[in-house]
Amino acid sequence: MPPMRLRPFTAPNTLDAPFVAPIRDVVEGSPAERAGVRPGWSLVSINGAWVPDVLAYRRELGRGAATLVACDAAGERSVRFEVAWEDPGLEFDDVIFDGLRLCANKCEFCYVHQMPKGFRKSLYVMDDDFRTSFLYGSFVTLTNLTDTDVQRILDEQLSPLYVSVHATDEDLRADMLKSWRLKVRDPRATRIRDMLERLAPIELFTQVVAQPGRNDGVALDGTIEYLVSLPNVQALAVVPVGLTEHRRNLPEVRGYAPDEAAEVVLRVTRWQERLLRTRGSRMVFLADEFYLVAGRALPAAAAYEGFTMLENGVGMVRDFLGSGIDETALPRRLGRPRRVLCVSGALFAPVLRAALAPLEGIEGLELEVRSLVNRTFGAVTTVTGLLAGRDVLTQVRPGEADLLLLSPSMLKYGTETLLDDRTLDDLRSELGMAVEVGGQDLLELVDTIVSGRAGNAGPQFGYSTHAVKEAAGQH
Ligand code: SF4
Repeated sequence: MPPMRLRPFTAPNTLDAPFVAPIRDVVEGSPAERAGVRPGWSLVSINGAWVPDVLAYRRELGRGAATLVACDAAGERSVRFEVAWEDPGLEFDDVIFDGLRLCANKCEFCYVHQMPKGFRKSLYVMDDDFRTSFLYGSFVTLTNLTDTDVQRILDEQLSPLYVSVHATDEDLRADMLKSWRLKVRDPRATRIRDMLERLAPIELFTQVVAQPGRNDGVALDGTIEYLVSLPNVQALAVVPVGLTEHRRNLPEVRGYAPDEAAEVVLRVTRWQERLLRTRGSRMVFLADEFYLVAGRALPAAAAYEGFTMLENGVGMVRDFLGSGIDETALPRRLGRPRRVLCVSGALFAPVLRAALAPLEGIEGLELEVRSLVNRTFGAVTTVTGLLAGRDVLTQVRPGEADLLLLSPSMLKYGTETLLDDRTLDDLRSELGMAVEVGGQDLLELVDTIVSGRAGNAGPQFGYSTHAVKEAAGQH
């Protein structure tokens, strides 16, 4: 291990710094701990510069030698220490230290604008930060970028990025996004074709939030044609606009009727066939919702080409179903009779009911798949991931089942917390029954139903601000 050098140092008070990086934890025995840094302190600078985000932090460490300055919360104690090809041992609260970049738009379909009141503040944050796009795969519009940002993306190869395109007809896109003139720092950033071409060395995953009669049809053809002509575009997800019943003083936007969804399925399927023939990849993928609303069969797993846009609702149902249930592996009867209730959003409930049909013959098992009305966002919201604890509590009677199973998509990543901050324990005590997460896929769910015990089925991804928007196909 290279020797660590400590120098006497009087650091600037943290109050002098435009931003600092709050330190959540310090690894035992690490250079930071040996230097005296403690949880609750803040990293002030690295190699003499403020640290705007974890990317800049990693970039400086990647140079080999780095000098770090950290201060305690009051700015009374500070240390400077050096590392060389060694992790300093700092763990941060967040990945962005200089404040999340907020969006410069007022999209007519924005999900944040149609959220009911009363949720945690973080769910109303209009994140449009290219750094979270790179780190977490959240979609950004690029309209708030400056020249410096573009240069940084190129210099640091922040690839891939996830871009909300919506339309490559500039006038149509401008009309849909309604960017605020005063919030846009570089007007060139609102020209999507310019931006995609300036980012030519960066791999891009793109999305279109489609509205009936707005940016689908011929406009969608134009968008696909342009995007697939760019070598750096890896894929395009077409997702339907998501609506709630809390749209007040907003432009009129409507969802897809089955015949309109079927038209989009047909159009995109034609593109997929053509692109598969000419490019060897379908490149354009549809959100599950289009198939379900249209009443069309979901494509086979292979047609999703690795499920690269799963978190955008593209292929989630097919991925969940896998190859279905092996009926020969099912028990004939349960050791002890059990009433199991699975809850789901209205869109997925019929699919789940059909998938679990082979379990009907198991003696001692009373199984129900219940479609819950989303009373939080309104009945128009049919995806499972946007059901809140209150939706469960108002539509499940205490004690009516022995085991209640929820979808992992209803929980915040890494927690047992639902969208309205109720926890699985809250549901257990209010409903007087076992409440568990069913499983990441159909086989895990069947195992949970048959055994009566939940596996380790945490959510694949949570409901960060973006996940909420993504669950509804937004942003
Ligand atoms: S959809 Fe996204 S980019 Fe558009 S206004 Fe809402 S937060 Fe901003």
